[in-house]
Amino acid sequence: MTRMSKDEYAASLNRMNRRVFVMGELVRNPAEHPLIRPSFNACAMTYELAEQREHADLMLATSNLTGEKVNRFTHLHQSTSDLVAKVKMQRLLGQMTGCCFQRCVGMDAFNAVDSVTYEMDRVLGTEYHARFRRYLQHVQERDLVVDGAMTDAKGNRRLRPSKQADPDMFVHIIERRSDGIVVRGAKLHQTGALNSHEILVMPTQALTEGDRDYAVSFAIPADAPGVTMICGRQPSDTRKQEGGSLDIGNRQFGGHEAVIILENVFVPWERVFMAGELAYSGLLVERFAGYHRQSYGGCKVGVGDVLIGAVQSLAEFQGTETASHIRDKIVEMVHLNETLYACGLACSAEGKATASGTYLIDPLLANVCKLNVTRFPFEIARLAQDIAGGLLVTLPSEKDFANPDTGPLLAKYLRGAAEYSTLDRCRMLRLVENLTLGPGAAAYLTESLHGAGSPQAQRIMLGRLADLEAKKSLARRLAGMDEGPATA
Ligand code: SF4
Ligand code: FE
Repeated sequence: MTRMSKDEYAASLNRMNRRVFVMGELVRNPAEHPLIRPSFNACAMTYELAEQREHADLMLATSNLTGEKVNRFTHLHQSTSDLVAKVKMQRLLGQMTGCCFQRCVGMDAFNAVDSVTYEMDRVLGTEYHARFRRYLQHVQERDLVVDGAMTDAKGNRRLRPSKQADPDMFVHIIERRSDGIVVRGAKLHQTGALNSHEILVMPTQALTEGDRDYAVSFAIPADAPGVTMICGRQPSDTRKQEGGSLDIGNRQFGGHEAVIILENVFVPWERVFMAGELAYSGLLVERFAGYHRQSYGGCKVGVGDVLIGAVQSLAEFQGTETASHIRDKIVEMVHLNETLYACGLACSAEGKATASGTYLIDPLLANVCKLNVTRFPFEIARLAQDIAGGLLVTLPSEKDFANPDTGPLLAKYLRGAAEYSTLDRCRMLRLVENLTLGPGAAAYLTESLHGAGSPQAQRIMLGRLADLEAKKSLARRLAGMDEGPATA
């Protein structure tokens, strides 16, 4: 059983032979690339905190597969306490990094695939669950980062996978062999792909007859032949290449997403967890989405804590912290942020064991959590910009501060309250800019909207899960409708 240190994690990625493109160039070791290094640092924090005694309860868990202590990101939740600890761990990591630390998609995929393969095997007599558990033990013993990959390219949204003009718009099996399957397609928006050892692929939607080859789930090493990763851009990303420390906002950490392309990739049967079982594709999507909708009630809250801290500091630097409307706005930000946390904890505390023994969140409350996440970070960001003021988007470059002609003038005229330095004020402005307009906003805002499914997906689930008949009968009873006609 090996748990890796940050350095060992870096070395393990470096040993891989992945095909990765960043800004049009093939990059041999992405973790060393200035655009990717911050996201490596963020993912590496999941290893660093696991080594610290004070965080052991949150970061480590006892594996139900081996009885060993493993990183919680590789763990199958065995109780509601595990589900609660997961959310608390994610808040902690959001606080420590101020960004997406990427490793949750793998954890959420493990837990979803575990329970679905168990239920599938029971009904269909297949053998996926034992296979999956052997694979997960391999992951736990090596302390790997696994990218849970769900979102297909999807092409024309009106057409089912097999009816697309290009059959590769959804990942599918193109060949079944005695020793495994060959797959082709692409997965989009893949969080942390460049920092991952493995990719765990799942279908993107419920499927019907005719789309059997699209009902496929499997795991591959990130450097398997035929895998290409192309890193996505983020707002102001090239500031990371400017070599400074101020304009970047979040000095050490960031996230990234990538397109993962699978060109005729061979997967041995031992790593295949679904191959044609149509009826279970929707269930797998629903379980994964449910866990990831819970996840946002932790990670986004931790980032919200950083943002609230940044604007409270800015208010003090600017001398506005005692103004009643500023205090009120800060309180509103806290209220919104803690509401998200309350939802993350609630769907965890109300979780239940599935047939495999792995615990699942309460799906109704997890969807409420995520639907709030599609709105509240935007309002928190709006309030943060309100408090920060227009300098947030008019602040000169750090090169102007370094220039002997302009630096002293800027230091003089951009000073706020005398007891704080201009530099500290600028640092905090850049952090707020990063989180609400820059690379941090990719995860804190747009991903809050669309990650783990866009808001309409949560509305559909709420409509389906709300027991309106039960609510109607409550109302009928109190209204006296079930007691026959009124006599008065
Ligand atoms: Fe984890 Fe949040 Fe990043 Fe998703 S967005 S991988 S839940 S940190
Ligand atoms: Fe996400």
